[in-house]
Amino acid sequence: MRLSQILFVTLRDDPADAEIPSHKLLLRAGYIRRIGSGIYAYLPLMWRVLQKVSQIVREEMNATGAQECLLPQLQPADLWKESGRWDTYTKAEGIMFSLIDRREQQLGLGPTHEEVITAIARDMIRSYRQLPLNLYQIQTKFRDEIRPRFGLMRGREFIMKDAYSFHADEASLKETYQDMYKAYSNILRRSGLAFRAVEADSGAIGGSGSTEFMVLAEAGEDEVLYTEDGKYAANVEKAVSLPIDAETSRFTTYEKRDTPGTETIEKVCQLLNCSPTQLVKNVLYQTVYDNGITVLVLISIRGDQEVNEVKLQNELTKLAPEYGAKTIISLNVPNVEAQQAWTAKSLPLGYIAPDIADEYINANKQIHPKFLRLMDQTAVDLKNFVTGANEAGYHVVGANWSEQFQLPRLIVDIRKARPGDRATHNPEQTLESARGIEAGHIFQLGTKYSEAMGATYTNEQGEEKPLLMGCFGVGVSRLAQAAVEQSYDKDGIIWPIAIAPYHAIVTIPNIKDAQQIEIAQKLYTELNQAGIETLLDDRDERAGVKFKDADLIGIPYRIVTGRAIANGKVEVVERATRNSQEIVIEEVTTTLHKWITAAIQVKN
Ligand code: ATP
Ligand code: MG
Repeated sequence: MRLSQILFVTLRDDPADAEIPSHKLLLRAGYIRRIGSGIYAYLPLMWRVLQKVSQIVREEMNATGAQECLLPQLQPADLWKESGRWDTYTKAEGIMFSLIDRREQQLGLGPTHEEVITAIARDMIRSYRQLPLNLYQIQTKFRDEIRPRFGLMRGREFIMKDAYSFHADEASLKETYQDMYKAYSNILRRSGLAFRAVEADSGAIGGSGSTEFMVLAEAGEDEVLYTEDGKYAANVEKAVSLPIDAETSRFTTYEKRDTPGTETIEKVCQLLNCSPTQLVKNVLYQTVYDNGITVLVLISIRGDQEVNEVKLQNELTKLAPEYGAKTIISLNVPNVEAQQAWTAKSLPLGYIAPDIADEYINANKQIHPKFLRLMDQTAVDLKNFVTGANEAGYHVVGANWSEQFQLPRLIVDIRKARPGDRATHNPEQTLESARGIEAGHIFQLGTKYSEAMGATYTNEQGEEKPLLMGCFGVGVSRLAQAAVEQSYDKDGIIWPIAIAPYHAIVTIPNIKDAQQIEIAQKLYTELNQAGIETLLDDRDERAGVKFKDADLIGIPYRIVTGRAIANGKVEVVERATRNSQEIVIEEVTTTLHKWITAAIQVKN
């Protein structure tokens, strides 16, 4: 393409609303344009990048035997009601855009496609002979994200590759999962990204596992905990660890102590001269189940530890049947206003003990009359501990389980693992922290959707069984931006060669110089013919402006038909290293061809 003939507009200054480097650079370099909150136009250069990423994804998926298809974005509400997800996806914090058509039918705009694909499988898969099967698509997804931000990283409309697999048994599901694990690693490696595969939260479905593929970058929204030995890496939402040891309690007898003004752990520890590791902290949460019942949750955990809300949410979802519900719709720490809705008398906040009486709850049809008491193992292990006295201004010290307090029925892991904790696989290893951008997620779904929607097959013994499923997503547009987040300098983007919109740009420093133009045009034609995707900067601009633009848009090789042409040479500059060399004009194409193939092959 000739820059003089295409839509090519770069901005000198950083756009005001962009926070992270990749977002700024893609806007400045004219790759994307914001149309609305979380809504972007992919301009021609970006579209080429996205097509290259899609092609890598396609090749890797096809290599596993998966089949490409294209599913509808308009999805009837009925399907989502069958799976039980309509309300959670369209109400409260749900992220599905929903609408009503001219016949008053409800529809959703596809945020994901489990329902659609399960409906297809239900109709079309009859026998084990048709299994296993893996279908994928590359398509625009719609999600009404609560906080759209960072450009393509968290859009409300974005491109995803999603795949769904069907199996007769666990072994087959695991095999496809492993194939996808390899395919995803290949996709990221070939795209030129540094990444880490990490254990991820599978929500309350449990399943036998899920892995996220994290592109490592400071701007990442996720925290990853890993060990140096390479044997453990997990999203902090899911991570487990051994906490640091608790100090031995300095209290040996049980007593109530006057501790005025010590609502925080820090203050009570200061006053009693003890360590937070000797304290049982009792944290109050409030959850609403999908049948409208509010349950007050009291969590007891060691004073120096924090609650992992993702783990907590999973536990509460598992407990839903005990409250006649299927799932939770909200979870939060109740503020004073929220407490007023259910407290019978004012709570001794900051001084709550694990056995605070249920009488504090003013129960009604919507409010469950008893606290749901959950305890983390760190609290169970304490001896002679300090905790609240259920009375403002007082704590108890030297308390023990089975003596002053009963252990609750539910002891669960709801603790947040932290950097510095010891690893469970080897206590000599400590957890380190890194930031990551989730580019992909692979997931063993099991029978959640097939059971809900009645998607069954007949096995070899002639029995009807629910299909086992896997699902596998890659954020194509997020991945493309993540590549920029990982590779840029003060002058602009440095695209990995495999996904750069063009491989080379031929720059004519002086558009008035006929010889410069002639050589540039000849090289431009020759390079393109040799399969080296090349731009020609033939604009009537100063050389400095052209060089700046070439740097900003991040094309891997710049070929300049400047002074060197007097010696039959051109200057070739590598964007990433800024290495510059003069190459004989006739050798430019073969040289670049060699470099580019080598760069792409290393990644293969
Ligand atoms: P996140 O936790 O970042 O919201 P998710 O768990 O909702 O992601 P999935 O439903 O697993 O994501 O979707 C598969 C992939 O699609 C993600 O790994 C990510 O790369 C991409 N993706 C998800 N949401 C967005 C978004 N709002 N904008 C761009 N890409 C997204
Ligand atoms: Mg999401």
